[in-house]
Amino acid sequence: MHTEQVIIIGAGPCGLAAAIELQATGIQPLIIEKRNVVHSISQYPTYMHFFSSPELLEIGGIPFTTANEKPSRLEALMYYRNVALRREVRINAYETVTAIHPQPDGSFVLESQDRYGDPRKYQAKAVIVATGYFDHPNELGIPGEQTDKVTHFFRESHPYTGMKVAIIGGSNSAIDAALELERVGAKVTVVYRGAEYSKSIKPWVRPIFESLVQKGRIAMRLASRVVEIHPRAIVVENEAGLEELPNDFVLALTGFHPDRAFLASFGVTMEEEGYPTFNNETMESNVPGIYLAGVVASRHEANEIFIESGRFHGRKIAAHLAQIGSLQR
Ligand code: FAD
Ligand code: NAP
Repeated sequence: MHTEQVIIIGAGPCGLAAAIELQATGIQPLIIEKRNVVHSISQYPTYMHFFSSPELLEIGGIPFTTANEKPSRLEALMYYRNVALRREVRINAYETVTAIHPQPDGSFVLESQDRYGDPRKYQAKAVIVATGYFDHPNELGIPGEQTDKVTHFFRESHPYTGMKVAIIGGSNSAIDAALELERVGAKVTVVYRGAEYSKSIKPWVRPIFESLVQKGRIAMRLASRVVEIHPRAIVVENEAGLEELPNDFVLALTGFHPDRAFLASFGVTMEEEGYPTFNNETMESNVPGIYLAGVVASRHEANEIFIESGRFHGRKIAAHLAQIGSLQR
């Protein structure tokens, strides 16, 4: 069994930021990451530009500057992996934490599996869970959702050239994908359950989208739901009843949620509203010694925490660990 002071699960921006905050207090935490550093960002749409300007994505006080106003996905990948390398953050990549067992002495035993399928065990005095949400898309639970023509992850538009594509959802992922697809000549229909455009669409994106809808280059179905997905069609339901639309591909861009079952498996309780119990000042959960960092700590909505805000969770955790001095015991 390996012994560590602090183990962080997840090398996303918020797990990395937490590691660097702990380093500043003299702790050298180990991050266990099931893929590689900032894996979620590597899965974002290939040609995406962030909404945030670069300084709002900085961690560890290392400047992030970009030639254009907003960083691209590629620039963000370069920035975060360089920060991890420069700060010599200890990361066990391609290793998945599968269980955490609280011990009677207040420490934790963690079980994991490395990339070869071999089991590993660790003991740690504190654990920071920074597992994000990107592995858990919000599913629709409709017939056909599990077929090959449906994805919850949009990567790039080229494969959809000339095809009939339905996008489910009306927030930023849906609107960004619709714009990219229209540019490659896909026949796009956005099916959104809201009666009007979502307020979360970024203000500089919305007019471009609205103009394409007005010109008939993107079809928009408001107050509508896809209720069935067939190999060559989808069935859309709205006030007027059921409508069958010819369709080749479905992008279900319906957002994400943290893995609450994983949190519950080591004793983190869920509030009535469905979010995990934790102290907002310290990020400590109801299990003393288990902390939450990043988007896994989202309360009512997954999107209330993002890199801009979640990058500061590690500072609260480092301050709390220093204050209680539990690692010295
Ligand atoms: P993640 O980045 O998801 O990191 C979690 C890590 O944990 C992953 O690497 C995962 O592989 C790992 N992991 C999960 N489970 C385990 C396990 N059991 N064992 C080991 N490792 C595990 N935010 C902004 O501030 N500005 C933006 O412009 C912006 N743009 C975005 C664009 C898109 C398309 C999306 C989807 C999100 C965007 N966000 C933005 C939100 C932001 O990316 C997330 O809030 C951010 O990734 C959260 O960071 P995190 O470290 O909490 O989680
Ligand atoms: P999101 O903001 O959570 O939006 C999900 C959309 O799917 C919403 O419109 C929602 O409807 C709809 N939806 C959810 N469940 C549904 C269901 N069961 N049936 C039908 N519709 C459903 O997710 P997102 O757009 O993927 O954005 C995630 C995060 O990434 C956000 O923080 C966003 O700002 C960020 N993002 C950033 C960029 C960028 O920086 N360029 C691009 C894309 C996304 P309601 O509106 O009714 O809730």
